[in-house]
Amino acid sequence: MSTNFDQKLHFNYAIVGGGVMAISTALALQRDSPNAKIVVFEGLETTTASKGICKIIRTPYIDKEYVSLAAEAKRKWETELPYREFYRQTGWVQVVRGDDYVPFHLEERLINAGDLLHMVHSRDPPQLDIEENLWLNKDIGVVDSALALEAVAVEAATLGVIRQKMDISKLLVENGVCRGAECVDGKCFTAETTIVATGPWTPALLDSSGIQLPHSLQHAFRVTAIGVATSPLTEDEYAQFKSMPILVTPQGEVMPSVKQRTLQITSTDIIEIAHPDELKSKAYTERIKTNRELLDKMMPEMRGRTLDYSVYPELMTPYQHPLVDGVPGIEGLHLAVGGSYHSFKFLPVFGGIVVDYLRGRRPGVSKRWGWDRSKEKISVYSEVLPKGSI
Ligand SMILES: Cc1cc2nc3c(=O)[nH]c(=O)nc-3n(C[C@H](O)[C@H](O)[C@H](O)COP(=O)(O)OP(=O)(O)OC[C@H]3O[C@@H](n4cnc5c(N)ncnc54)[C@H](O)[C@@H]3O)c2cc1C
Repeated sequence: MSTNFDQKLHFNYAIVGGGVMAISTALALQRDSPNAKIVVFEGLETTTASKGICKIIRTPYIDKEYVSLAAEAKRKWETELPYREFYRQTGWVQVVRGDDYVPFHLEERLINAGDLLHMVHSRDPPQLDIEENLWLNKDIGVVDSALALEAVAVEAATLGVIRQKMDISKLLVENGVCRGAECVDGKCFTAETTIVATGPWTPALLDSSGIQLPHSLQHAFRVTAIGVATSPLTEDEYAQFKSMPILVTPQGEVMPSVKQRTLQITSTDIIEIAHPDELKSKAYTERIKTNRELLDKMMPEMRGRTLDYSVYPELMTPYQHPLVDGVPGIEGLHLAVGGSYHSFKFLPVFGGIVVDYLRGRRPGVSKRWGWDRSKEKISVYSEVLPKGSI
């Protein structure tokens, strides 16, 4: 290999990525191995799934093992620092068509449009059609995601993790062993174990490193994106809406960020892309229509508001299980990727699962997070699947 290695740039663990998967892993690894030298290359992107303004923390899943993992994570959001500083229990009100909805939670109940007006402190009722019902589930919360992520990264750094705000240009693989990586400034570092947690940038990073997955795994990744509209709240609106529940429809959700005094409208209208950079070169602004229609329907008094719009990329993996596994044929290289639109909530627990995996254990649902998904039948968050299923 023609690269020069500097011993000062040698680590026990190198983590590539600056989102939930990377930061949660960094903290859990440093807690598990206090003397280990750990570096995290966080990258420079700011429009990333993990750095969005706010996220929903929920336990309803069709899959019991996910209910259990989400409940464990939610307990930590509610009770542990730094998580609890960024979490608020808001409840959600779901618009459900027809009469055959089966409540997830025992205390979930039907409410009417008048109840919703009262809860949102809104002037105008939502524009529901005759077959749409409103179900209230109080056991759901919102987290200020970008702020929570940064707090966890600061905690990891306090314990010894070295944070580098830099992109990796390629992984360095020699004779079937990953030795480390090269940064965009040309510097190289070595690591005994490298964990790639680069979300939707992962296929491109493997490609630029000359790493080819076996044929049977080549379609495991789908790079996708979703548009999020936001609107800053005035002082009066903030006072009015700060304790409103999340409003959930099949087209997306409306929720306020208290710390950032902003209303966020997320659609479920997924775009398939080849690489996240596409989002910079192509205009997707016409898609804001979906977010606007959603806001008009659920909060008619906000009609005509100026909305900012950003499109966030996300990596989808088969059946929407994250992937925590080695790269076949390459020693010392592991992937922790595939948030599939539902993994921010796992920030407090995800890293522990990666540590378990590195130590040869796969408890609970994580036994299904390897490459082999031959026993899986349905996606765990099918509401956001692009047309067709994976
Ligand atoms: C619009 C939207 C709404 C969502 N809502 C929810 C929700 O309400 N609740 C929930 O639980 N989940 C939600 N999710 C899912 C959740 O946010 C994601 O699953 C999770 O944040 C993915 O984290 P990640 O670490 O895998 O990837 P990312 O957050 O994409 O992070 C990847 C990181 O890798 C870095 N990187 C990339 N390339 C390189 C490189 N070459 N070198 C160094 N670093 C690099 C990037 O800079 C980035 O920091 C949502 C996702 C989206 C997109």
